[in-house]
Amino acid sequence: MSDSTPSFTAAGVTISGLRKSYGSNEVLKDISLSVNPGEVVCLIGPSGSGKSTLLRCVNLLEQPNGGTIDVGGYDVTDPDLDIDEMRRHVGMVFQQFNLFPHLTVLENCTVAQLKVLKRSKDEAQRVAQQNLTKVGLGEFADRYPDQLSGGQQQRVAIARALSMDPQLMLFDEPTSALDPETVGEVLAIMRNLAKDGMTMLVVTHEMAFARDVADRVVFMDGGVVVEEGPAAQVIGDPQTPRMQDFLKRVL
Ligand code: ADP
Ligand code: MG
Repeated sequence: MSDSTPSFTAAGVTISGLRKSYGSNEVLKDISLSVNPGEVVCLIGPSGSGKSTLLRCVNLLEQPNGGTIDVGGYDVTDPDLDIDEMRRHVGMVFQQFNLFPHLTVLENCTVAQLKVLKRSKDEAQRVAQQNLTKVGLGEFADRYPDQLSGGQQQRVAIARALSMDPQLMLFDEPTSALDPETVGEVLAIMRNLAKDGMTMLVVTHEMAFARDVADRVVFMDGGVVVEEGPAAQVIGDPQTPRMQDFLKRVL
């Protein structure tokens, strides 16, 4: 039975009083935010405001200096945490797709299933094929990454993450490196994921996506949360001058 795909469960995230410094540069200053199971939260803000650092703290790619983070019941800041066990439940998609160039699309989506989840090759291939089909790339399993467009490569990266049956997905500017004409296909996949009830924390500059898909929007600047609330409110009727300035620049 351990071979079967577990049924999908959404996990939430609760961040409380998070602090992170690089040397004397404090880039996250007492950040608190939560994402409820099944919720989509978009994190927006100017470059250098700490968005990537925050996302990386959630799955311990960066070690926080203070505060607590709970991911689906795992206390991420507990020194006794089994980091690999926690990370199994967290999918991450980056601006750069980081696919293995020497592996086919299908192999890119099976390698971690085999190594980390110890699935059989048949099972891993079945799950990978299912997720490639979900992102519209069922026919591309035998290609290599450099035979695909940027948008297609990013969709493979999403299928790869989904093949680990995550309970939470973190996206760090997933469309920022794409040609404008392929941005929409990646956002469409993310919309579908949201509709399926995936918990998602998404750093993005795509304001239309944030407005339409996010349950809540969190605006960060200078390592603090400046404004947060329902997407329509934060984007449609920003209360702070900093958020108003930011919107003027990105809209
Ligand atoms: P954003 O994603 O909002 O653009 P980042 O989280 O990447 O912001 O960066 C926030 C601040 O932290 C920046 O001032 C950046 O230079 C600094 N920073 C990020 N990563 C590192 C690192 N590994 N070492 C030192 N400083 C870093
Ligand atoms: Mg960033």
